[in-house]
Amino acid sequence: MRPRSPPRGGVSALGAARRALTRAASNPVDRVNLLDHDLESLAAYCATLGEKRFRAVQLFRWIHQKGESDFGRMTDLAQSLRDKLAAAAEVRPLRVASEQAAADGTVKWLFDVGGGDAVEAVFIPEDDRGTLCVSSQAGCAVGCRFCATGHQGFSRNLSTGEIVGQLWFAEHHLRRRLGLAAGERAISNVVMMGMGEPLQNYAALLPALRTMLDDHGYGLSRRRVTVSTSGLTRMIERLRRDCPVALAVSLHAPDDALRDQLVPLNRKHDIAALMAACRQYLDAAPRDFITFEYCMLDGVNDSPEQARALVELVRGRAGPVAVPCKLNLIPFNPFPESGLKRSPRERVQAFAKVLQDAGIVTTVRKTRGDDIAAACGQLAGEVQDRTRAARRMTRAPIRIVAVHTP
Ligand code: SF4
Repeated sequence: MRPRSPPRGGVSALGAARRALTRAASNPVDRVNLLDHDLESLAAYCATLGEKRFRAVQLFRWIHQKGESDFGRMTDLAQSLRDKLAAAAEVRPLRVASEQAAADGTVKWLFDVGGGDAVEAVFIPEDDRGTLCVSSQAGCAVGCRFCATGHQGFSRNLSTGEIVGQLWFAEHHLRRRLGLAAGERAISNVVMMGMGEPLQNYAALLPALRTMLDDHGYGLSRRRVTVSTSGLTRMIERLRRDCPVALAVSLHAPDDALRDQLVPLNRKHDIAALMAACRQYLDAAPRDFITFEYCMLDGVNDSPEQARALVELVRGRAGPVAVPCKLNLIPFNPFPESGLKRSPRERVQAFAKVLQDAGIVTTVRKTRGDDIAAACGQLAGEVQDRTRAARRMTRAPIRIVAVHTP
């Protein structure tokens, strides 16, 4: 069975809102989830209720800025609108199955999204920022060798409301818990790096991003919202046109022979196409570099020769174009099914030194929340593998082809 397709595009926001309203009116249980709407779509929905756009703005601010879900408490909305909303719509929160807090302050939530699926979001506090790592799918069909989510297989795409719902819950829950004053935010950055390949759920992702960026919503700057992709080149191009936010690309190998084994979609979207898409993305990106993620796997992709090959690649001497970039080296978080090991610290440092000596900004990511399995690549939630993606994952030993650099 193939992974489920995202909802079909090309429908007008007004048409979708009308159909949703008709459905909700005919079945009171089937209420419209207002978290599914970005502001434009909410304005279209409000138009179906005979309401002007400024009412949608008020409603949007109540939901996202104040975290209010009770229409009765939205005191500047006309009573007639509150009554209409109460009859047909809701702000549907995600069901929190568990919350775990790590010694370093990292918090991980498991959200039950029904049907036996649960997804995770992680809050990572730092001195100057609060970052929320958000999931886009229940499971993932890409099947990267080093990723716990990939080993679980794929169940379904999350809806916009389920993606935004992670931020809505975390922001307002943390504000209450931390006792923040009105106007103070708990979350300053969002990274779409949780479970799933966000660009394989583009139709739901786009309104979610717009809600995060909207000044009447969370008001996050484009630089502080990052989409992380395993390298779907055509979708990178769409994101560039539709909503260019910061881009992180899971690279993990300097050549196709190795990347084909670590990130299977490389067989369709090879490194040359990926580098070209990244270069083009920078024309619209809010930052003047792409972040390349590189998970350090002992004896697989962590040799000095491979570091030199990586330099050649991003400099455009071993690929089609140079890509201004930052390299983020990620310590691998081992899990038994992977058959892989974390690179020793000295090897990571030696690898980083080759990159830094070549003038490439390189960071070694701190592992955060690994005592609650919240670190990078550890998110697994609970997933009904409806596509047998996990079964198709190869466990064959990784073949290393000799790397030659000039
Ligand atoms: S690393 Fe990302 S794209 Fe790869 S399997 Fe994991 S969640 Fe999917």
